[in-house]
Amino acid sequence: MSDFLGSVNQNFDKAAAHTGLKKGLLDQIKACNSVYQMRFPVLIGKEYQVIEAYRAQHSHHRLPTKGGIRFSHKVDQDEVVALATLMTYKCAIVDVPFGGAKGGVCVSTREYNEEQLERITRRYTMELIRKNFIGPGIDVPAPDYGTGPREMAWILDTYLTMKGGELDAAGCVTGKPVNQYGIRGRTEATGRGVFYALKEACSFEDDMKALGLKTGLEGKTVAVQGLGNVGYYAASICQNEGGCKIISVAEYEGAIYNENGIDIEKLMKYRKKKGSIMGFPGTKKMKSRKDVLTVKCDILIPAALENQITMGNAKSVKAKIVAEAANGPVTADAAAHLVKKGIMVIPDMYINAGGVTVSYFEWLKNLSHMRFGRMEKRFDQNRYVNLMNQLEKMTGKKATNKEMAFLTRGADEIDLVRSGLEETMITAYHEIRSVLKRKKKITDLRTAAFVVAINKIASDYNSLGVWP
Ligand code: NAD
Repeated sequence: MSDFLGSVNQNFDKAAAHTGLKKGLLDQIKACNSVYQMRFPVLIGKEYQVIEAYRAQHSHHRLPTKGGIRFSHKVDQDEVVALATLMTYKCAIVDVPFGGAKGGVCVSTREYNEEQLERITRRYTMELIRKNFIGPGIDVPAPDYGTGPREMAWILDTYLTMKGGELDAAGCVTGKPVNQYGIRGRTEATGRGVFYALKEACSFEDDMKALGLKTGLEGKTVAVQGLGNVGYYAASICQNEGGCKIISVAEYEGAIYNENGIDIEKLMKYRKKKGSIMGFPGTKKMKSRKDVLTVKCDILIPAALENQITMGNAKSVKAKIVAEAANGPVTADAAAHLVKKGIMVIPDMYINAGGVTVSYFEWLKNLSHMRFGRMEKRFDQNRYVNLMNQLEKMTGKKATNKEMAFLTRGADEIDLVRSGLEETMITAYHEIRSVLKRKKKITDLRTAAFVVAINKIASDYNSLGVWP
């Protein structure tokens, strides 16, 4: 078993001991139900290449199953199973009614051009259709490492080609471009969820006092590993809406540092132009890209891949809060070590759940065949205008045009998505924190999060009457 899957199961076992549930039920919750391993030929240049790929469905206690598709040359079965397992617990924590799944295609995206990647994605989708591993009520993929809206659009198009008459076909995949049955706010969702979670975690005075920090995000120093979908949006929103100072960033090509702060938008533009973050004006080059993980800062956001903080470097971590934006960036042993050192580790299965939460909204939009806000926006707007008119009459005061526009605006899809996401992240944090405070033997947020997830899944099984 890989370190990653081993860590996930080790964390599960640690938490399961606090639930008082029977072994048989715990075994069922922990087990991965199905894995489809496939190999298929794709014409690359003049030669056929045999591509290895997977789709794991960890739990069918709720359907459809849900989870991203990863394109990486390091993908193997254990990794996909570990990620699918995390998805089950993640969905339970944020009350998204899905079982967990994950897909993996063993390719390095740097080695293929767009046309070749399209061919690989479409062929992979065909395999999933053939074996009934995709569908709006069966299993719904989404983006993950190495994939994004473009790949999701190819998946949708392939599905529509094969199953065009299906009324809810658009719900077969989420993370699609907005003009192809997607939803506003999905691309930024995981990073924005990280921001809402950090904002909430930093709002508790006693928790912050224990870390030697003030409440609130304003002025907190942040280091970020990986400036992809999750890392970029997390860093950008923490900087622009939270007032954080990003002092260190690492990408594939290396790591940079500036104690006065790095402007993330300018850095992204610079990287687009130069093809690298190295040499960004005002920053110092760090020896190795891994040095970002041991920078002295308030918040460390590992947002690249798993197994980045291990027993090998955990001793050198100097952050006060580690926000696991990636899946499994800290191994189980290393996390225990960090917690012992007094570091707050906000676990992946909670803090990066923003993506699946907004994917759930997108799926609901696809099933309802209507944009959120379409029915009520004007109605709300007219009601607020009437209310304001009455207030003006009663007080004899007149609002300015700017005030009127602000106070009477009805909610658009993006407003509703963000508000639904914020509500979800706050509610879930309170549930996890209350377990941590209530159960004296639990000393870390991850174990508390697992207890929340296991209990919710167990209650689903119990309500089915299957496990007396
Ligand atoms: P991505 O491919 O968009 O970005 C990952 C970035 O990390 C890339 O820019 C890559 O160059 C960089 N990177 C890779 N190795 C690195 C290293 N050693 N040091 C520094 N940078 C490195 O992927 P993503 O979608 O942002 O996913 C990142 C992590 O977040 C993964 O663990 C994924 O499972 C998890 N996640 C993603 C989502 C989502 O909605 N995309 C949701 C939940 C969790």
